[in-house]
Amino acid sequence: MIDTHCHIDDPQYADGLDAFLAEQRQDGVECILVPGVDKTSVKDVLEVCDRYPNYLFPALGLHPENVKEDWQEQLRVLKEAVDKSLSSTPYTLHPPQAHNLGKADSLREATAPRHSRLIAIGEIGLDYHWDTTFKEQQQEALREQMRWAEQYHLPVMIHSRDAAEDTLKILREFPNVKGVMHCFSGSHEVAEQVVKMGYYLGIGGVITFKNCKLAEHLVGIPLERLVLETDAPYMAPVPHRGKRNESRWMSYVAERLAQVYNCSPEHINEVTTANAKELFVINL
Ligand SMILES: [Zn+2]
Repeated sequence: MIDTHCHIDDPQYADGLDAFLAEQRQDGVECILVPGVDKTSVKDVLEVCDRYPNYLFPALGLHPENVKEDWQEQLRVLKEAVDKSLSSTPYTLHPPQAHNLGKADSLREATAPRHSRLIAIGEIGLDYHWDTTFKEQQQEALREQMRWAEQYHLPVMIHSRDAAEDTLKILREFPNVKGVMHCFSGSHEVAEQVVKMGYYLGIGGVITFKNCKLAEHLVGIPLERLVLETDAPYMAPVPHRGKRNESRWMSYVAERLAQVYNCSPEHINEVTTANAKELFVINL
């Protein structure tokens, strides 16, 4: 299993992190991707990932809920960190062939020669759930960060809440960029559109929640387009709902998915791991 979205830099994990990660590894978690949420994350995320190379992989981005008055300053600091992280080794641009645009395969070709530490731009997106004061700024921040992903041929981790239409509209402006719709819980129609755009769906603990319709919405969506995630410390699956989440508990998500796809949890793990490795170009 690969946890494609885990806030392991959260202070809740600071104590006993060595033992915690050893347990995750022992229970089948091959590696963990750690997204940033603002400029403070630059230090937090990169530092924790530095301590566990080849197990924790960093992403940087400005989370839509953190788009406030200072959003442009936030982006300036983040872009500087992204540039720095990606320029530490010589980098050759290999733009995808025009006829390949929009295909998932072209992403791998485009990103294969990368020698960088960042594995993605994220998490970025739109969130109109609590507050729409900075709606326009959220959209501009998303566009700007999509441009970074395009520039560096990096995949994106997209956070979208109560904003599916606007999110998809902006993602479509960047047909060369691919990524994952993290913590997906949308409708079947949205799932279909996301997959058609060459994106993946990040499936986490939500699918195990009682009365959650997500499993039904996935019927007909190819397993080749799903990746597992926790969104830890949040979203712990049943039977651990409400607790501090752990990557190894993705096994409960895999069990639920196995019911939907009428296969074994092992098959779910195998396919979603391969998907994550392909999208994020992870060579362990
Ligand atoms: Zn997150």
